[in-house]
Amino acid sequence: HFVTLEGGEGAGKSTVLAALRDALQADGCDVVSTREPGGTPLAERIRSLLLDAGDEAVAPHAELLLMFAARAQHVQEIILPALQRGAWVICDRFTDSSYAYQGAARGMDVHFIAELERHAVGIEPGLTLLLDLDVAHARQRTRGRDLLGGASPDRIERERDEFFERVRAGFLTRAAQHPQRVHVLDASPEAAAVAAAARMRLADYRKA
Ligand code: C5P
Repeated sequence: HFVTLEGGEGAGKSTVLAALRDALQADGCDVVSTREPGGTPLAERIRSLLLDAGDEAVAPHAELLLMFAARAQHVQEIILPALQRGAWVICDRFTDSSYAYQGAARGMDVHFIAELERHAVGIEPGLTLLLDLDVAHARQRTRGRDLLGGASPDRIERERDEFFERVRAGFLTRAAQHPQRVHVLDASPEAAAVAAAARMRLADYRKA
C-alpha cells in the first residue's frame, strides 16, 4: 500500500506522517516512511542542490527534471522494493507536488509532467491526503523559515503569497481530478486534530 501526504509548507505533513506510521506500526504493519525530494543518498543530494542553489536562479525546467530524477531514484531504490515485499510506504510529498509546484506555480506544461510521470515514475499512490491550508495561515506557521535575500520584506511576502496561492490551487485541482485517490483534509486545526482526521481516513482506506 502506497500512501502520500501532500500540501504546502506549514501544513503539518511531518506530524501527520509520524501519526500514520505509528498507527500502522502499532497494528504490526511493516512501514517504510520516507520523503521527497530525497529518500535515498543520491536523491538527498539532488534535494540539497535544489534547496541550496546559492545565488544561481534554478531554471524551471532544471527544477522539474531534477525533481523527477530524484523521484525516479527514490521509486527504484526504496518505494518499489518495499511495496513488492508487502510493506506500507508513506511518503511526504510525491508526484502531486510536481503538478502543484513545477506545474501550477512555475508554469511547466502539465502534459510534459504527465509524460515524465509515465516514463520515470510509473506508480501512483493508493491514497493521498492533501493537507489544505489557506496561504495567510501557512505564512504565519512558516514565518522565518526561508528568505530570498535582498528583496524588501513586503515584496518577499507578496511574491510568496502569490506563489503559494498557485501551489494551493494546483493541489486542489489535482484533488478534483482524482477524487477517489486524493482526500482533502483541513489543516487549520491544531496538529493533533489533523492527525486524528488523517488516521480516520487511513482506517477508511484500509476497510475499503
Ligand atoms: O516538504 P518540504 O517542505 O521538505 O519540501 C522542501 C522544499 O521543496 C519546499 O520548500 C517545497 O516548496 C519544495 N518543493 C518544490 N517542488 C516539489 C517538491 C518540493 O518546489 N515538487
